[in-house]
Amino acid sequence: MGRKLQSIRGVHDGLPADVARWQRVENAARQVFSCYGLQEARLPVLEPTDLFVRSIGKETDIVSKEMYRFTDQGGDDLCLRPEGTSGAVRAWLQAGLTRSGIQRWYYMGPMFRRERPQKGRLRQFQQIGVELFGVPGPIEDVETLAMSWALIEALQISDVQMEINSLGCPACRPAYRQILVDYLEKRKSRLCDTCRTRIETNPMRVLDCKVESCQAQLTDAPEMLSHLCDDCSGHFDGVRQGLDALALPYQINPKIVRGLDYYSRTAFEIVTDQLGAQGTIIAGGRYDGLIEELGGPATPAVGFALGLERLAMLLPESKLVLPDVAVIGLGQQAQAHALVAARDMRAAGLSVVHCGSGSAKSLFKRADREGAGFVVVIGDEELNRNLVSLKNMKDGSQQQMSLDQAIAVCLKGKMP
Ligand code: ATP
Ligand code: MG
Repeated sequence: MGRKLQSIRGVHDGLPADVARWQRVENAARQVFSCYGLQEARLPVLEPTDLFVRSIGKETDIVSKEMYRFTDQGGDDLCLRPEGTSGAVRAWLQAGLTRSGIQRWYYMGPMFRRERPQKGRLRQFQQIGVELFGVPGPIEDVETLAMSWALIEALQISDVQMEINSLGCPACRPAYRQILVDYLEKRKSRLCDTCRTRIETNPMRVLDCKVESCQAQLTDAPEMLSHLCDDCSGHFDGVRQGLDALALPYQINPKIVRGLDYYSRTAFEIVTDQLGAQGTIIAGGRYDGLIEELGGPATPAVGFALGLERLAMLLPESKLVLPDVAVIGLGQQAQAHALVAARDMRAAGLSVVHCGSGSAKSLFKRADREGAGFVVVIGDEELNRNLVSLKNMKDGSQQQMSLDQAIAVCLKGKMP
């Protein structure tokens, strides 16, 4: 016997009940983003591997062990994208938009990382991403943060927090990095294996290690915030002033770092404690160095990405949208009439399912299972009198009337 076919571990099907929730997030995002003047971009899932090696950094977990990477039939080294920012920058450069003024983009779609699957941590997951190109901040950082918060509010999600930090810039980070490395070296023997490696490869990542015994070693670790240069410090003050002006609630969390190498200055997360270790639902920040790194002109930029599956877990279950009307034709001739009636009802704006052919008993049973608010029945009598029978499934009442009248009643009684 053949083995049962299953989806790949950490790769989930989006069944209609899941998609109903995702669409709530997507619709809210489109609405909020358009209020902020953003435009949608649709970008490839397949990219050259080199794009991510150059942008995310060789030493990041994503590039060193999590990318789905392969050589195609033509010998090209390709990847399923693990994140969206690098591809967005590539597309923006490739389209020659560098001198077209500020671009404000958003995109939605699947990302791929071969990490250990857990609740809220998948190998194929979806992000809604935002990138603003050509914005020096701090005002635009504030607007980006405000926009992500507006989305949270539009979805009526509570129990989440906004946390901000500054990661400094190439002028001040190297000196801080050295101070941090010295601090970590002294405690090296008490850190986990991953952290020990990171002291050399990416010491700031040690700060957000999830291992408790590591966190215990970091209570008085030096903070980037106390080592910012004047420009970064002024930038951070500007962000705080803007957030205060909007009365946005936020906390400073000096331990926020981004896993990717290209971030500078403002970093932020929106977190919840309802999802265990997978508590970050939105993460982002400023990446002033990335565009130059990818061969473009030095251009300041800021953005964020939202984990769609994680955010959706915070939403109450969405009711599936049921049809307004189920149509039954009793007998061959009536079934053909029911086709026409269904078409006319749809043209009037109702959602209608035709129950098909079969015995009267099976058709009524089918209509029942559709969960529609109304059932329209066409039998011999209705045919002869050019009427339909309309049954209101909520109160069980039934009446004969013209199709036009039935349409009017159904439109009025349509579920919101
Ligand atoms: P984490 O610390 O949880 O691993 P991250 O720092 O790797 O997150 P980013 O690369 O900044 O995350 O991606 C932005 C958002 O995408 C995350 O905040 C999260 O909501 C979502 N996300 C990231 N990785 C996954 C995954 N494997 N499965 C589901 N969602 C994810
Ligand atoms: Mg991660």
